[in-house]
Amino acid sequence: MNAYVKKSVEALRPYVPGEQSTDPDVLKLNTNENPYPPSSAVQSLLADFPVEELRKYPDPLCRELRDAISGMHGCGPEQVFVGNGSDEILLLCVRAFVEKNAAVGFFKPSYSLYPVLAEIENVPVLPTPLGPRFQWANPQLDGSSLFFITNPNAPTGMLFPKQKIAGFCKSYGGVVVLDEAYVDFASDNCLDVAHTLPNVIVTRSLSKSYSLAGLRLGYAIGPPELISTLCKIKDSYNVDVLAQRIGLAVLRDQEYFSDVVKRTCATRDRVATALQEKGYEVFPSETNFLWVCPAGLEASELFHHLREKKILIRHFPDEVTGGFVRISVGTDEEMDRFLACLP
Ligand code: PMP
Repeated sequence: MNAYVKKSVEALRPYVPGEQSTDPDVLKLNTNENPYPPSSAVQSLLADFPVEELRKYPDPLCRELRDAISGMHGCGPEQVFVGNGSDEILLLCVRAFVEKNAAVGFFKPSYSLYPVLAEIENVPVLPTPLGPRFQWANPQLDGSSLFFITNPNAPTGMLFPKQKIAGFCKSYGGVVVLDEAYVDFASDNCLDVAHTLPNVIVTRSLSKSYSLAGLRLGYAIGPPELISTLCKIKDSYNVDVLAQRIGLAVLRDQEYFSDVVKRTCATRDRVATALQEKGYEVFPSETNFLWVCPAGLEASELFHHLREKKILIRHFPDEVTGGFVRISVGTDEEMDRFLACLP
């Protein structure tokens, strides 16, 4: 115990990110990063970037970027919030929409950051277990004032039925955050739900489909009243000058974006078939990763076997997820190396 630290912070179990190896021979299939570089527009922008611009603070309202995002999604800029990664937006939602006597709801399993954010803010959690095949289960309507739905879900990769999500959002009394970090790899999204209901926010990330995990950029779309609430409590300059400029550049290169997404989905489906042919159970993925139950060995054994061969995948050792592994989709060459290393 340290007398200087708040008790709730001392007791906090922090979020555990996937391992970031510096060994160039290591194949990282553990954090759902995009194996392809960002649009070449980023390299050109950085080469010509007037360093003088860093002297000044960035636009606190991210006006150009919000205009571009709202144009892309057919809404007004007052319905768009830009954050330092979508993780920042998720934390702001807990701060803005959960009273001390309310709780944060989410599915179990889903993104393991949600309970950590609740703990940071010292508010309780109300997890809803998913069905035995990780399918939708109706959450309790009371007891929480904010509910996170990861869609497609992580770590399972599956998309929930839209009518279930919309039905829940309509009857829920609090704010629903639809965390669509992986939705660009999916066949459907719930933006229209956020456009039409007063209590729904969709969050998106540029970390996966736009290959910008290292930059930290995400955004939210929602009703103007909820978006302006997030603006009220954010850091004044939460998105730096370079992130604003680079974000604009990649969003304008939709051709490259679509190509990367198409390639990733094709590799994902090929690897899923190869794993199924080995007898592995592969859940239907609408993301850039696969949720897999191996055959002939335990999930933890597969994790360690691949680790020895310098391939990192993700294993979440708890009673619900411990029998499975999550494998990020790399390039075709990387996935051939992965498949060749399977026992
Ligand atoms: N939501 C989910 C479900 C994620 O897996 C991640 C990445 N760990 C994020 C949000 C955060 O993404 P960002 O890099 O935009 O903060």
